[in-house]
Amino acid sequence: MSASRQQVLHVDWTRCDGHGACAELLPTLLALDPWGFPMARGDHVRGDPVVPPGERAQARRAIAACPLLALRLLEVPSRGPVQRAASDAASR
Ligand code: SF4
Repeated sequence: MSASRQQVLHVDWTRCDGHGACAELLPTLLALDPWGFPMARGDHVRGDPVVPPGERAQARRAIAACPLLALRLLEVPSRGPVQRAASDAASR
């Protein structure tokens, strides 16, 4: 991966049923919304949390643990807007 790329954890919303096992395995990247669906806790690209290099092994564990195969890592350009979750922005 080049320095201008980053990895994000993508949720396939056509598969996810919102039981939240992924958020338990990745508490620094994911929180649960009031209905139990995962949402980015920090930096994200269009809602997909940015996975820092130190979290990639745990992200792969969460992908393997998802019972509905709804998670995958995507490589995206690191330039451009990286957004912060509204809950993070509000806490500053
Ligand atoms: S573990 Fe999979 S099915 Fe469960 S909330 Fe996470 S993405 Fe959705």
